[in-house]
Amino acid sequence: MNLILLGPPGAGKGTQAKRLEEQFGIAQISTGDMLRAEVKSGSAIGLEAKAIMERGDLVPDGVITAMLAARVSRPDCAKGFILDGFPRTAPQAQALDAMLTEKGLKLDHVIELKVDDAALVDRIAGRFTCASCGAGYHDSFKPPAKAGVCDSCGGTEFIRRADDKAETVAARLEAYHRQTAPLLPYYAAQGKLSGVDGMASMDEVSRQIGAILSGKA
Ligand code: AMP
Repeated sequence: MNLILLGPPGAGKGTQAKRLEEQFGIAQISTGDMLRAEVKSGSAIGLEAKAIMERGDLVPDGVITAMLAARVSRPDCAKGFILDGFPRTAPQAQALDAMLTEKGLKLDHVIELKVDDAALVDRIAGRFTCASCGAGYHDSFKPPAKAGVCDSCGGTEFIRRADDKAETVAARLEAYHRQTAPLLPYYAAQGKLSGVDGMASMDEVSRQIGAILSGKA
């Protein structure tokens, strides 16, 4: 099963993609996570991407599509994948279609997480993850049970993304509306698009996604 989760930053794509990965044993592919790893390692891609990401702009299509093509060829994608944060532009969507056709694969569903822009700044500005296991938290909506200690692994170090500052979030939302939202009609025309209420609780969003995947939505 090959899925795309589409939605603005902070819509909950990462959380839902991780749940789907566990549920179906298919690979979660976050191009944002891949780029952050490149930045951390100081690779050529990382050096090119760092300033762009800090401004909240999009990394050039050629860089991203080459990275994605290599990623979907890895063995853990044999049963399928969930794309989280890709495609973000029309050329990326077209490159993905070409890539899938070449491999004899198809997209099963594109799921839009619908969220009000006003809610996103609060959601994003308070989020952080465990440095050891990557579990996600939020200052107001999901603090760890014991302050400063990860519920999942007991880790005590946490990370906040450099581009989760309020100023950068505005640029990221603008990039979403200008460059990524036009993909919604593209996938609707292919008969692949379904929407879920991204303002609902995480469990309710998972339930709505489950209904779409089982054809009961
Ligand atoms: P994300 O973690 O998906 O919010 O991505 C963080 C940042 O990485 C974005 O604001 C972009 O600068 C960059 N990025 C991630 N995925 C893409 C993509 N598919 N195309 C272009 N830039 C991307």
